Amino acid sequence: MDVCDTLISARWCVPVDHADTVLEHHSIAISDGRIIDVLPSDAARTRYRSDRDCDLPTHVLLPGLVNTHTHAAMTLFRGIADDLPLEAWLRDVIWPLESRSVGPEMVRDGTRLAIAEMILAGCTTYSDQYFFPEISAECAADMHMRAVIGTPVIDFATPWANDASECLRKGADLVHDRYADHALVSSCFAPHSTISVSNDSLSELRVMADQLDAPIQMHLHESTAELETSIQQCGNQPIQHLDDLGLLNSSLLAVHAVHLNDVEIDQLAEAGVCVSHCPTSNLKLADGIAPVTRLQQAGVTVGLGSDSAASNNRLDIMAEMRLATLLARVDANDATAMPAAAAVRMATLDGAAALGLQSSIGSLEVGKRADIIAVDLSPPRSQPVYDAVSQLVHAAGASQVSDVWIDGRQQVTKGELTGIDLNDILRRAHEWPERLQQ
Ligand SMILES: [Zn+2]
Repeated sequence: MDVCDTLISARWCVPVDHADTVLEHHSIAISDGRIIDVLPSDAARTRYRSDRDCDLPTHVLLPGLVNTHTHAAMTLFRGIADDLPLEAWLRDVIWPLESRSVGPEMVRDGTRLAIAEMILAGCTTYSDQYFFPEISAECAADMHMRAVIGTPVIDFATPWANDASECLRKGADLVHDRYADHALVSSCFAPHSTISVSNDSLSELRVMADQLDAPIQMHLHESTAELETSIQQCGNQPIQHLDDLGLLNSSLLAVHAVHLNDVEIDQLAEAGVCVSHCPTSNLKLADGIAPVTRLQQAGVTVGLGSDSAASNNRLDIMAEMRLATLLARVDANDATAMPAAAAVRMATLDGAAALGLQSSIGSLEVGKRADIIAVDLSPPRSQPVYDAVSQLVHAAGASQVSDVWIDGRQQVTKGELTGIDLNDILRRAHEWPERLQQ
């Protein structure tokens, strides 16, 4: 018999392949954090001897969900100001709050809370942008979470850096270089938007990102107010502005991309820009509905993001998956737009591709890293099962995520975090409302 570290056997398995296959009674063999086989369970039992067997008779296995955009530390601001438009929300609430609270302790407590929430909800990879990215990277590495940590790039002084040049230097030293060979953590640069970073800083960013071969992610075409400000400040829309500066290329992840005309959609497609679609945040801030179907038809890869818990208020990619498919239908006026399998692809393989990680994660294939989740379809809300993928997207919720593996290590067992001190994370989170409202 062959030997493997872990053998997971489940009623259904959604590997996310080109044919949208749904396997029944299949097993996944894992060794050294990597998927070494996907095969019928009967055959697996005679072929493999494993150190750990995990039998999931009422569950569906799928690749770990990918959250392509959040600000993890802002989880401490969840529910602090719910009913404001984007600009007033940022200017009157979030920025003043940040100016008196952001620091290593706030970033550590908020990021740890966010990671715990995401892993329990089946998210195994997230992309972040926030101050003190070196603290966020440390949290992700400590908690064994796969993460792309974005260094904020901003012109004015913050508790973390005095100007954009210092942001770039610190990001290169403290995150990019330090995690260059890390198994789970990688880095990118994350200027907030074209209207909050000067041309000189964006040009400096381009040079640094090219030198380090680092990706860039940026809020882009999120609200109509952003577009109007861009016209006033630069004389054109943010996408054209980035193109003029040489930043519209396949290293860019455009976050939101809500307000786009046909020319801009073609520009994104031709440049190989990927999009992070954050449907709940776009609705909550009344930004609008991103033209996801048109983007995909033009050839743009679109992943899903939660945005922060201050503008969502959940870090729940299963919820985003359902909302994305419903909005795509309304936007396209077509009930056949974005079938369930396409929504699962956005939440997994396309999200991985948007972060440049598609060769290592995003599908359950031999050779890929073992980022795997199990969703229990036995509760009443998921019965009966005609179509496991439909159940995942339209009926199941994050509370049905029972087991989670990241890079082969089991992080959730029967709905409980393993190896993470959740009580300590919650105890520290409980202290923040009083501290922030002083
Ligand atoms: Zn954001």
